[in-house]
Amino acid sequence: MLSSSIVAFALKPRLLPALSRTATTTKPAVVQARIANLVHRNMSTFKQENHKLLVIPGPIEVTDEVLYANATPPLGHTSPDFIPYFGDAIRLTREVVYTTTGQPFLIAGSGTLGWDQVAANLIEPGESVLLLNSGYFGDSFADCLRAYGAQVDEIRADFGKSATQAELEQALKAGKKYKAVAFTHVDTSTAVLADAKMIGETVKRLSPESLVFLDGVCSIASEEIRFDDWNIDVVIGASQKGLGAPPGLSVVIASQKALQVVESRKAPIAGFYSSWKRWLPIMKAYEAGTPAYFATPPVNLIRAYHASLTQILRSDVSLQDRFQLHKDAAQRIRQAAKDLGLKLVPTDEYNTANGLSAIYLPEGLGVADVVPRLSQKGVVITGGIHKVNKDKYFRIGHMGTTVVDKSRGDIDKVITVLKESLQEALESKKKASPLQKSTGRPTFGQSTYPRSIAPASARARL
Ligand SMILES: *Cc1c(COP(=O)(O)O)cnc(C)c1O
Repeated sequence: MLSSSIVAFALKPRLLPALSRTATTTKPAVVQARIANLVHRNMSTFKQENHKLLVIPGPIEVTDEVLYANATPPLGHTSPDFIPYFGDAIRLTREVVYTTTGQPFLIAGSGTLGWDQVAANLIEPGESVLLLNSGYFGDSFADCLRAYGAQVDEIRADFGKSATQAELEQALKAGKKYKAVAFTHVDTSTAVLADAKMIGETVKRLSPESLVFLDGVCSIASEEIRFDDWNIDVVIGASQKGLGAPPGLSVVIASQKALQVVESRKAPIAGFYSSWKRWLPIMKAYEAGTPAYFATPPVNLIRAYHASLTQILRSDVSLQDRFQLHKDAAQRIRQAAKDLGLKLVPTDEYNTANGLSAIYLPEGLGVADVVPRLSQKGVVITGGIHKVNKDKYFRIGHMGTTVVDKSRGDIDKVITVLKESLQEALESKKKASPLQKSTGRPTFGQSTYPRSIAPASARARL
């Protein structure tokens, strides 16, 4: 079942009931009806052009169905033909994070717009936010909150780690009133996975008034997020990572508690385009099957996102299967790294993401020695992004169709090409450096980490 190709998802005519444009509920039949729209006459001949395998932590590979949906002629954003796509995209978004009451906001913009939405709508100037920081994206989230006047206290984890429950408890017991606790679920700079369930439950126990903001841009649809059960108030996402669509759509889900906070704020909402008071009636209208206008939605992107959600939620591969497939792929990549003698950036298996890996380079190699070699062989990975160590590690994304559709063979290809490229890079360093020749180093397959303990002089030479 798991191995069945996801491409078959839309081709089950017997499942397709009559089309209904006015439905306002999440009845599966209504959602299934939308699938009919995907099976376009031209789809059977559409195939995306050959390209390098994109395995960075977003944007990621997209399926032909998703790309085809993006390539359809634009529909009028208030036309009856478009409204069902938007309505279903909103309904399906709830399912990805297991919420029945959360309110999705689908707004043109990148993942970053989610931070602005949260800060502009939920924080008033001078209010305090506790932020659990495990990398680059934690820094940026904090910067964004501060830009709107928040007073941000941070628990800054060491590189490769996340905040512990004890640290969170200590901060929450210190007597300060926090409007919100914010964290990056998967910090894309380090591949560290935070324990979202623990954080949500700890906040509920010790500071029940506080809102919980989860930056899920790099975790939504690749890691489990139980919005309702885990006491989460906002999930911030974007179309181009685990959600499997092209970049450009900000996907945010807000709890009813968060919407109440917007209603009761004293200071005006610190934004126009990002104002939930302006967007909420729009989202409600589309879900109810009626047109509304505030700012033009990215109609093609909504269709592409809708196509991807349909594959994520209505194919033979269930959402739970999908999470397992991400775990399996992560395990394979980690094992390959181990076989090559390489160490992971996350220090703890339990805190390691399943949708991407951050792996230290062998001693003596920098990002520029390795990443372009993979690219030449048709595999696009990327270097580090954390300011402290960015030239010492590389990152591979393994999300979406790359891990779900095993017939693509993407993970095998990544592992093979990574191995070859590292071997070549080390060979060429050996040739270039007499020091390396005399010591026989560096090699992988033996202790190569941490590179930071290599003498500075040796590092400078390399
Ligand atoms: C990518 C990412 C962002 C920013 O998203 P953009 O679409 O690049 O604006 C924010 N947070 C996390 C965790 C991310 O991985």
